[in-house]
Amino acid sequence: MHTKTVAELVAALKAKQVSSAELTKLFLDRINRYKDLNAFITVDADKSLAQAKAADARRAKGEAGALTGVPLAQKDIFCADGWLTTCGSKILSNFVAPYDATTVAKFNAAGMVCLGKTNMDEFAMGSSNETSFYGKVRNPWNTDTVPGGSSGGSAAAVAACLAPAATGTDTGGSIRQPAALTNLTGLKPSYGRVSRYGMIAFASSLDQGGPMCRSAEDAALLLNVMAGFDARDSTSVDEPVPDYTQSLAHDIKGLRIGLPKEYFGKGLNSEVARTVEAAIAEYKKLGAQVVEVSLPNSQLAIPCYYVLAPSEASSNLSRFDGARYGFRAKEYKDLIDMYCQTRAQGFGAEVKRRIMIGTYALSAGYYDAYYLKAQKLRRLIAEDFKQAFEVCDVIMGPTSPTTAFKLGEKSDDPVAMYLSDIYTISVNLAGLPGMSIPAGFDAQGLPIGLQLIGRYFGEEKLVNVAHRYQQVTDWHKRVPKGFD
Ligand code: GLN
Repeated sequence: MHTKTVAELVAALKAKQVSSAELTKLFLDRINRYKDLNAFITVDADKSLAQAKAADARRAKGEAGALTGVPLAQKDIFCADGWLTTCGSKILSNFVAPYDATTVAKFNAAGMVCLGKTNMDEFAMGSSNETSFYGKVRNPWNTDTVPGGSSGGSAAAVAACLAPAATGTDTGGSIRQPAALTNLTGLKPSYGRVSRYGMIAFASSLDQGGPMCRSAEDAALLLNVMAGFDARDSTSVDEPVPDYTQSLAHDIKGLRIGLPKEYFGKGLNSEVARTVEAAIAEYKKLGAQVVEVSLPNSQLAIPCYYVLAPSEASSNLSRFDGARYGFRAKEYKDLIDMYCQTRAQGFGAEVKRRIMIGTYALSAGYYDAYYLKAQKLRRLIAEDFKQAFEVCDVIMGPTSPTTAFKLGEKSDDPVAMYLSDIYTISVNLAGLPGMSIPAGFDAQGLPIGLQLIGRYFGEEKLVNVAHRYQQVTDWHKRVPKGFD
């Protein structure tokens, strides 16, 4: 039962082969058994089981919705009423959220069961899940390697079958990169498609929540719940939400796949390159054609992002000051010293680095040279995609330049760590939807992800293109040894 997809669990619940309470217990037991992965920050069995029983009662009354009773894990960046919500930081280590994020409220209304809050890089800053105040997360495919970040807890949880699905957030790659490193299907929706209300802000113009799961079909089912306008998020877009499962089976004959020539150059691991090429060959068999496209500014995406994201973060994180909520330093001389001590003790090294970079880039003397310049660059990067989509329907390439790296391998080299997101970051800068799907393994048995990038609000096409591939391949069905 634990290796089943969300769609399969729905069928089992409908057929009364299992109850939500039984499923929830099964996953809670597994979470407990595989604690060493450190995938969860908070588990509260009583709360989860109460939700499961309510879901079973709802089903018994004939009032079940499409996903009622299916358990799912929430990244600890989403506020959930009554749950400790830490964002992976000491500064929120005592913060119990007094309300639900819109995404959490929607899953609750759908009758889904929250299995707990997953570990993550502190304030979602990272690509390896090593910056969490709650310790590093291990990749179930090889526990000496990282699961990717920042949604590393969600990735490890689903990959190890501790949960059938989880939420993630993606500011520069944090859904897609960990999905690639742990053999999951991860979808970052278009900016504005999923509400950010109650999702603790890192870089507000880039952050988007989305599903991490075992199949494109599951991504469609979960996006059906998550997507939609929210008056509480001023950047959420008021566009109707289609039923994403409707497009899954559409024929992709004649699909034009754009391959950006910049994505296959230096820095790309040869096994990853070969695997991506094999996946493209599979698509050709399905009737797709390939065109070369160019994203000339893509090599500037990382410097652009590392000006804009820290700038927004430095502003967003100013609210954590010890005065309003969260951690407060025990000893201080006066008010200013209280702020300083609280932030010095409450934030980790990576978060401090970003606050300093952002504050510098926004300061009066440097604003034009850095922040404004980066904003202009962002527009050029978005224009590149616009041009590319004139000759193709979907862009494909690697999700991550390498497979999972060793724990500690890049922790002392922030620039090497930042390069992990070289293929994902430009998608956030352009606000486009992106997806990572399992496409094979390297010689060490570590998973490799294929990235699909769509037009703005083109999620239907993405899940369709991903689903067709998953119908003729079984990479996405593989589960790591010892967790099967
Ligand atoms: N790894 C990138 C960063 O550290 C992206 C993180 C994210 O998408 N939340 O900022």
